[in-house]
Amino acid sequence: MIPSEHESKLRRLNQIFLEENQKLNLSAFREEEQSWVGNIEDSLSILDSPLLLGEGKPVLSEAEGGVRSLKILDLGTGGGFPLLPLAICQPESKLTGLDSTNKKISAVERITKELSLTNVDLISGRAEELGRDPEHREQYDLILSRAVAGTNTLLELCAPFAKVKGKIVFWKSMKIDKELEDSLMARAELTCHLIDQYEYELPEPFGKRQLLVFEKTSPTPDKYPRKIGEPKKKPIT
Ligand code: SAH
Repeated sequence: MIPSEHESKLRRLNQIFLEENQKLNLSAFREEEQSWVGNIEDSLSILDSPLLLGEGKPVLSEAEGGVRSLKILDLGTGGGFPLLPLAICQPESKLTGLDSTNKKISAVERITKELSLTNVDLISGRAEELGRDPEHREQYDLILSRAVAGTNTLLELCAPFAKVKGKIVFWKSMKIDKELEDSLMARAELTCHLIDQYEYELPEPFGKRQLLVFEKTSPTPDKYPRKIGEPKKKPIT
C-alpha cells in the first residue's frame, strides 16, 4: 500500500522520473500509470512484507519506542528503484544506490536533488569492486536488488555488503523454481538462508510477484566477490 502521507511526493517522483526517462532509457515503463504501478508500487511492496530484523522487530515500519534507522543498499538501482520510493517513505534510514552505469547514477542524482532527499547517497561503480571496500563491506542492515541478475549471481554480489544477521531482498517473478534450485550452492557457500518468500499482487498486467528474503548468518569468505564479471559468467554452483 502507498503510505498516504508520502503520496504527493511519490507522485512527483513518478513525474520527474518519466521526464528523465524520455531523455535516457531508464525503464520500459513510459506511461504515468504504468510507471506508478510497475516502479513505485512494486518498489514499496516491501513495506507490506513481514520482514523482521534483530529481535523480531519490523524492519521497515516504526518499531515500538521509535523509528528504525537502517543502512540500506540498493544494488543495481538503475533509474532509482526501489531506492527512491523507499527513501521517501523511510526518511530516518540512510540509503545508498549503486549502479555501474554512470549516466543512470547522474539521472538519479538529479531526481534526488529535485526532490530534496537528504538520506540518499549514490555511487557509480561495480558491486564486485565496492564489495571489497572496507567502507562498504559488511556495513549494511539491508541489501535490496530488483531486476539485476539471477539469484546465485546476485547473492555473490550482495552478500559481502550485508552485516552478519543482515537481510538481502530480491524482487522476483513467480516462476523461479529452477533459479532457486540453481542457487543452493551459493546460499550454502555465502551462508545466506532463504527465510521468506513474500507474495504480493499488483494490478494487471503486472499480476503476482514475490520478494525473496535471505538472512546472512556469518561473515562472507574473503574470496567473494570474485573479479568483475565472474559472478555472472560462472555463478557459484
Ligand atoms: N533496479 C532497477 C534497474 C534494473 S536494470 C529497476 O528495477 O528498475 C539492472 C541494473 O543493474 C543496470 O542499471 C546495471 O547497470 C546494474 N548492474 C548490473 N550488474 C552490476 C554490477 N555488477 N555492479 C553494479 N551495477 C550493476
